[in-house]
Amino acid sequence: MMWMSVQKYQFLREKMVKEQILKRGIENEVILDVFEKIPRHRFVRPSDQHLAYNDYPLPIGEEQTISQPYIVAQMVDALALQPEDTVLEIGTGSGYQTAILAEIVGKVYTIERIKGLQDQAKEVLDSLGYRNIEYFHKDGKEGLIEQAPFDKVIVSAASKSIPKELLDQLKDGGKMVIPTGGDFLQKLLLLEKNHHKYKEKILGYCRFVRLI
Ligand code: SAH
Repeated sequence: MMWMSVQKYQFLREKMVKEQILKRGIENEVILDVFEKIPRHRFVRPSDQHLAYNDYPLPIGEEQTISQPYIVAQMVDALALQPEDTVLEIGTGSGYQTAILAEIVGKVYTIERIKGLQDQAKEVLDSLGYRNIEYFHKDGKEGLIEQAPFDKVIVSAASKSIPKELLDQLKDGGKMVIPTGGDFLQKLLLLEKNHHKYKEKILGYCRFVRLI
């Protein structure tokens, strides 16, 4: 296992922000600042920590992955997050994206289907001091009817179609990002809800693990 100092990780984070995020067109200072702050290496396996700031996803166990940094940046940028927002996240996974959200918005509800991953993510997020996150172990496709409606919904696993419950639980004027499509290539969609109508924009193409 390769061990690196706090300064080295800080250096790698700054490089990641410049080369992977800023250079690809994301200029929102709030987003750039949080990516520079959050210790992504804490969300991967010890043997992968030296790879945590590279430009690709990494395995986190249970056949799941922590998303590539740029994909997380692209998704949160598209949501136009506001400090007073309440956000629903489907697929806690490593908890990295949960931390990004919790830094920017007031309240994050996160759902994960695999208990072991959720427990691990919660432990890291607790140790980093996040207190505005609520964790749910269940099928995210159902959303959270009791906590709805949400300003923003972010889905980190791909499905063939968009779960209706999630659309229903979005506030009027709210936004959702979700990858949809087959196993190998998916469209990353941004949906905006207005008076029960949805405006759809394709942000790009991506490859996520499947919503199970
Ligand atoms: N943003 C996370 C992505 C993790 S991968 C990160 O960067 O770490 C996607 C996650 O979605 C996996 O942990 C998987 O277990 C979870 N998942 C898949 N289907 C789900 C469902 N129906 N409900 C909740 N979580 C689900």
